[in-house]
Amino acid sequence: MRDKIVAGNWKMNGTLEEGQKLTSEIVNMIKDERVNDVKVVLSPPFIHLAGVKKLIGDVNHLFVAGQNCSDKDSGAFTGETSAKMLASFGIQYVIIGHSERREYFNETNLQLSEKVKQALANGLIPIFCCGEPLDIREENTHEDYVKSQLTESLFDLEAEDFKKLVIAYEPIWAIGTGKTASSDQAQEMHAAIRDHIAHKYGQELADDISILYGGSCKPDNAKELFAKSDVDGGLIGGASLKSRDFMDIIKSF
Ligand code: 13P
Repeated sequence: MRDKIVAGNWKMNGTLEEGQKLTSEIVNMIKDERVNDVKVVLSPPFIHLAGVKKLIGDVNHLFVAGQNCSDKDSGAFTGETSAKMLASFGIQYVIIGHSERREYFNETNLQLSEKVKQALANGLIPIFCCGEPLDIREENTHEDYVKSQLTESLFDLEAEDFKKLVIAYEPIWAIGTGKTASSDQAQEMHAAIRDHIAHKYGQELADDISILYGGSCKPDNAKELFAKSDVDGGLIGGASLKSRDFMDIIKSF
């Protein structure tokens, strides 16, 4: 059985006070309310990571993720944070290849491949993001586009490394737009991703990989999305900044 995961990507949001308040609210809700078998991942900005980690302590279900890591091990790379540093703070996951990193920071499939390797070498679970822009969706070449993102960044991994990954499908036209992919569109792409992985690594391994959906996932559409057989959870942006909304998404399983 593959993991069900709901991850909150705070992006560049939250002062110290706001981050602490949001984390404490989520921790209290997770303790007080019945949560099914779901892994909940909080991905705050780097400066919050140690504080968030401390606040959640050893509460069940809760994990912490970096939003990025360096493709280098260490050295003179001002402003960067390595996978090794994240691991040394007890961080368990790292988001790699978010479309905003690809677009605004020119991260390439090749560079992402190095980041994934850094994460794996340091025991972090990469949440690898893929997804197509609107023009590609309109041209109807979105499946090929996403498959090449996976092939170019991930398919040189050995099976025993690949099986540690989490994949997040985030159609760029659905991110922060309020325009979510329909549950059928999400299912179709998730099945295509799983099929692509199965061709390379075999069906058994592909069946164990969690594939999350991201892009305007909210309390009112999460249930329908998560009900699809190949949708194993969500990567949540805006709605992860409101504890009640985030919790309602977690409880949509
Ligand atoms: P929104 O949920 O705000 O659309 O963002 C999705 C996302 O980019 C999560 O990584």
